[in-house]
Amino acid sequence: MTAKQILIVEDEKPIRDMIAFGLKRAGYEVREAEDCREARVQVADQAPDLVLADWMLPDMSGLELTRLLKKDPATKDVPVIMLTARAEEEDKIRGLEGGADDYITKPFSPRELVARIKAVMRRHGADDEDEVHTLGGLTLNAASHRVTAAGQEVSLGPTEFRLLKFFITHPERVYSRAQLLDRVWGGNVYVEERTVDVHIRRLRKALEPSGCDRLVQTVRGAGYRFSEQVGG
Ligand code: CA
Repeated sequence: MTAKQILIVEDEKPIRDMIAFGLKRAGYEVREAEDCREARVQVADQAPDLVLADWMLPDMSGLELTRLLKKDPATKDVPVIMLTARAEEEDKIRGLEGGADDYITKPFSPRELVARIKAVMRRHGADDEDEVHTLGGLTLNAASHRVTAAGQEVSLGPTEFRLLKFFITHPERVYSRAQLLDRVWGGNVYVEERTVDVHIRRLRKALEPSGCDRLVQTVRGAGYRFSEQVGG
């Protein structure tokens, strides 16, 4: 597997160097930008596997950069971790609402940063590219991001894909909406529980033509279960 590429967007060279050093040592390929303009040029050139964006940047805030990346269909799936000296809860919420996938407050250790990067990449399914999962006539290929149901390709949105991936790797168990939010959306994300229902509906609709929607089962008063067996 090739090394994951991380783009560091930080104007303060000593901090950028320190982060780059830690990430290279952890096996990542590192690219650097000192402002948002340069970051956008680099991202357009080749999308990295993850962006580390400082909040305070000279030309535009890291928050605005994150918004721009998440708005662009070409980069909306690139995870972003915000780096900041701010520690207030309100800023954290703003950062996450702006589309950041996680948030780390300075000062942090390289080890802490690498742990966060790994967690975010895991949520994005970027660290298990070779896996192919099959269950009940469904096949999910994590590397090609393809799903087939009864031999037919199924087109899924990114959230439905992650949801299905979670289900297919955790079958025969009931998960509450809160658990699904935590495991599929990530614990730091501010979304309401009914969001889960919306995406379950979309997933079922996509699976309906193949009959595989029967695998996504509602367990009354408890949540959802992915199972080959028919049951209430
Ligand atoms: Ca800065």
